[in-house]
Amino acid sequence: MNSSHIARNEEEVLDALYDSTLAVLDSTTQLDSEQKTRALYFSYNLCSCKECQKECGAHINKKRQIRISKNFFHNTLNQETPPPIGLLELMYTILHQLLHGIFPEHNEETINEKTEQAWKSGTTELAKQKLNRNS
Ligand SMILES: [Zn+2]
Ligand SMILES: [Zn+2]
Repeated sequence: MNSSHIARNEEEVLDALYDSTLAVLDSTTQLDSEQKTRALYFSYNLCSCKECQKECGAHINKKRQIRISKNFFHNTLNQETPPPIGLLELMYTILHQLLHGIFPEHNEETINEKTEQAWKSGTTELAKQKLNRNS
């Protein structure tokens, strides 16, 4: 395998993860449509800044770019635990940053609460939609 092939795969995984996270955000009943719309103007990419090489999972900058730690992304995809758990962890991390971007005025504690609520209600609504479609 050459490295550009791997790189393209990575991008596809990242795109799919980001889209799935937006679907969770879009399905949550915790935000109104104006708040959800703000997230559509964010961009995202992998990051190797000093923090991301150490502890950081992801962050969002002033230009509303979500920077996902390249290390965290790689480690999560390559870890021994079943991939779905790692993928959900990445999605949760992205959702957390989306909420930082939507609510720049809120502190970490509030964003943590909002992330948990948005995740719960978003994934529940998505599951309901899927069940309705299958019935
Ligand atoms: Zn970074
Ligand atoms: Zn945070």
